[in-house]
Amino acid sequence: MISKWIEQLNSRQILSILYSVCGFSLVLTLIGAWFVRDGNVSTLELTALRWIWMIGLVMFISAILLIGRPLIKRMADQNSRLKAKKEKLETVLNESKLNEINLQYRNELIEVLASKESLFDYSSVIEKIVLLTKSEFGALLLTKDGEITSVVPKEMTEDQQESLKKDSLLLKRVMISKLPAATSKRVVDALHTYPYYIYETVIPIMDPSDNSLIGCLYLARYDEQYDASEKSELNAFAGQLAISLLRMQLYRQMQQDRKETAQLINSVREAILYVNYEDDTVVGNRAFIRMFDDLHFDYKGYEELSAIDIDIEQLAERVDQHEQFVRYFERVFTQDPPEDGLTISIDQGDCFIQLYAESVYRDRKLRGTMLVLRDVTAETEIDRMKSELVSTVSHELRTPLSSIYGFTELMLSRDLKESRRELYLKTIHDEAKRLSYLVNDFLDLQKMESGKQAFEWEPVDLYQLVTDSVAFYQETTDRHELFIDADTEQDFIIDADLEGMRQLLGNLLSNAIKYSPDGGNILVSLERVDEEVVMKVRDHGMGIPSASLPHLFGKFYRVDNSDRRKIGGTGLGLAICKEIAKAHEGQLHVESVYGEGSTFICELPTSKEHIMQ
Ligand code: ADP
Repeated sequence: MISKWIEQLNSRQILSILYSVCGFSLVLTLIGAWFVRDGNVSTLELTALRWIWMIGLVMFISAILLIGRPLIKRMADQNSRLKAKKEKLETVLNESKLNEINLQYRNELIEVLASKESLFDYSSVIEKIVLLTKSEFGALLLTKDGEITSVVPKEMTEDQQESLKKDSLLLKRVMISKLPAATSKRVVDALHTYPYYIYETVIPIMDPSDNSLIGCLYLARYDEQYDASEKSELNAFAGQLAISLLRMQLYRQMQQDRKETAQLINSVREAILYVNYEDDTVVGNRAFIRMFDDLHFDYKGYEELSAIDIDIEQLAERVDQHEQFVRYFERVFTQDPPEDGLTISIDQGDCFIQLYAESVYRDRKLRGTMLVLRDVTAETEIDRMKSELVSTVSHELRTPLSSIYGFTELMLSRDLKESRRELYLKTIHDEAKRLSYLVNDFLDLQKMESGKQAFEWEPVDLYQLVTDSVAFYQETTDRHELFIDADTEQDFIIDADLEGMRQLLGNLLSNAIKYSPDGGNILVSLERVDEEVVMKVRDHGMGIPSASLPHLFGKFYRVDNSDRRKIGGTGLGLAICKEIAKAHEGQLHVESVYGEGSTFICELPTSKEHIMQ
């Protein structure tokens, strides 16, 4: 009872009692000591003193025992309570840690389901669910029209997956009933000495829009059933999975559509540029990147439209109609696409491009502009050839024909003097010759272009040919001096068609004479460079404007200058030369300074064994 009373006291009270008892016993001890110090103490007094000490000592020990024991007991009790609390705390801590891990898995699962990765990587989804439900293994089965289309397994062998797909009655039941189901199986196998249980559960994944089955979640573990709360949690996961699977389907469909659109646009031969006003992006197709290949745009492949980092000035650099082109593009980029098209040429007429802008509207709002650039070089060339042909025919055919017609009529209707008759006949003869040259040139070229020209290959001494031709053409002019420059020690024999070579050199020499109306020196040089002979015909005549150089070897192309108009020609000579050089596996090009003269360079291989076979 005392201990209880003491226990009930607070520590300060206990201490004050302890102090008073101790103080009292100290006082008694001091009184005793004072008497002793005096020395004259009687036996009776000494006995009384001993008693006083004794009582003091007993009181002191009793006080210590009375107070100390319950205190020690209390401390021991407190200690054991603390221990119990600690243990409880540890259990709670462990539980909360476990909960925290589960929560983390759950969060991760939700994150994975919501993330873009889940659209492709369902293995991380099933992995998280297996971890969360402490399952041994599991799988996510995707279904379509009641058939399993794919299995995303976790810790399952190929055999296990196959048997799940083919033999699992549980799975079949769920696929038919569309309701969750679970089973337990007693397993006895050679690996384990004792039988054990395997618990399986299958949760259907339903499309919420039409309640059709889009997949199943399969989980299995040993020795512990899936309880009701786990099953309801799994149902919730299945709901989220359904949404995620539908997102995936939608995303895949979108991707597929995007790919198809990109493939379509990339397969178009016209260069296409789409300027998107909504997100300020520009994409281009394969033809566009090819058209401006010198700008090295990053080509993303056939299944994607490539993002184009456009710099209008840079794009317009090679465009001949620079200003117009920049203005057109600027209008497109400032959401004011022009309705009219524009035809431009690139690299001084090397190619021709027709462009037009097509606005793209959605909900009656301008969303972007599609720029289409069409390479019309071939059409332009054909058009040019047609008009050249018409003008050549009208000029080159009509002029000789009308003079032949006129002179023959005169000869038929009038009685002419012999000398006059002879003059007229000569004119008729010359004009007929011009006509036949034109027709022959035209037919020759047609034959060569269609590969029908029969060349006769033989070793041809180019030096000899040059000597003969120079002598021949020198005869036709008094105003020009024709020279040859060749190292006669060298051998200029090549495998060639003699007549073809004669025609090529003849055309170059007659042009050199024709287009140097003021006369001057004409030099034919021969040089051996490795396995080639380089033949050059150089004049100091009118020269060729640089804009005409790229077209010079085109059919019917004639430099259109007032000073040349009176010089007759068909525009076929150089085209024929080019074809002859090509047939000899050689090359023909020109260097010219307008007003100063031209050099035609023909590079011919010495041997063409494969051609001659
Ligand atoms: P043409 O019958 O008009 O001479 P070509 O095909 O031989 O036809 O030449 C095409 C054009 O090239 C000519 O109209 C001429 O303007 C130019 N040309 C050819 N050779 C020369 C040259 N040596 N000097 C200057 N211009 C030339």
